[in-house]
Amino acid sequence: MSASEVPEGIELSDWRGLDCKSSLRCRHGRPSRCLLCWDGANTGRRYLGCPLKNKSRMCRFVKWVDDEWPPKSQEVAATLWDVVAQFKKKADDAQTDLLGAIQLRNEVMEDKEALLEEEEDWAIEKAALVQEKARIRRELSMRTRFARASCSTLASRINSQELDKKVLVGVILCLLGLLVAMMLSVVLKNK
Ligand SMILES: [Zn+2]
Repeated sequence: MSASEVPEGIELSDWRGLDCKSSLRCRHGRPSRCLLCWDGANTGRRYLGCPLKNKSRMCRFVKWVDDEWPPKSQEVAATLWDVVAQFKKKADDAQTDLLGAIQLRNEVMEDKEALLEEEEDWAIEKAALVQEKARIRRELSMRTRFARASCSTLASRINSQELDKKVLVGVILCLLGLLVAMMLSVVLKNK
């Protein structure tokens, strides 16, 4: 913490509130507030500061109440804050990692849900295709039976027609034979 910065101040049970005893005023012209420095080498030193609680609006008024700590104490205080800062950074990093892991897990879950939905769609589509296939099979077997029946009817018809044709040929041949016989008998009678 540089000298120009406003110290990080906290209030204690016995060192708090506005300092109404002195006539000290902050740069806003307001009565100062009793604070304890809680940052850097001056940690633990009491001071009077700006009474505003919004840090961005605070003025830079600082009136130290306690004397400056011995150099060794200042060094120890600063070192302790460095350690605290390192711990904070590690904690932040760990939290960032954790958030990253949570986000990754959520993404994986979303992907999984999307895949499951897709699988359901596929299952529905597959069931429809299976039904369609069964319907086509039934239709095909029906048509095959019909075609066979038609073929056998046609075949029997053709057979019967052929039979009729043979009978007709037979009759014609008989008639021709009869005619020849009659002609021969006429010829023989005339001789
Ligand atoms: Zn002020």
